[in-house]
Amino acid sequence: MENCIFCKIVRGEILNYTVFEDEKVLAFLDITPCTKGHTVVVLKEHGESLQEYEEKNLEGLFPAIQKVVRKLEEKLGVKDFTIGMNNGRLAGQLVPHMHVHIIPRYEGDTGGNIHSIVKKESDTSVADIAKLL
Ligand code: 5GP
Ligand code: ZN
Repeated sequence: MENCIFCKIVRGEILNYTVFEDEKVLAFLDITPCTKGHTVVVLKEHGESLQEYEEKNLEGLFPAIQKVVRKLEEKLGVKDFTIGMNNGRLAGQLVPHMHVHIIPRYEGDTGGNIHSIVKKESDTSVADIAKLL
């Protein structure tokens, strides 16, 4: 996509520090890292959210994430990671090209876990939600 910043990175129009690359995936260091080694993983194909992609086009994504995690573990000596996506505006997604954050976690980094991101009481019981799904 013409004006998408991550597409520009994929096309090599903006400098990036590549951590991993294959035919479908590019992983590069985040420009404003949450911690040392914070890496962003994108599919080279543009799509705004997870829901937009064809299932088959997502196939290489998790193996690529694992490769990045292993590389960070090997090269930076870090063992723990928070891995996740801000998928959509309300989830805090700023760059509208789907990406997975790999955030190395360090002793005493004062960060929380995924449960600390949001806590809003549901007006529907888990059992009733299950009926809808
Ligand atoms: P989001 O909030 O959309 O999940 O996160 C987007 C991420 O992309 C942010 O962590 C931000 O620092 C990173 N980012 C934005 N622009 C650039 C850029 O030009 N280069 C790199 N390497 N990272 C970027
Ligand atoms: Zn894009």
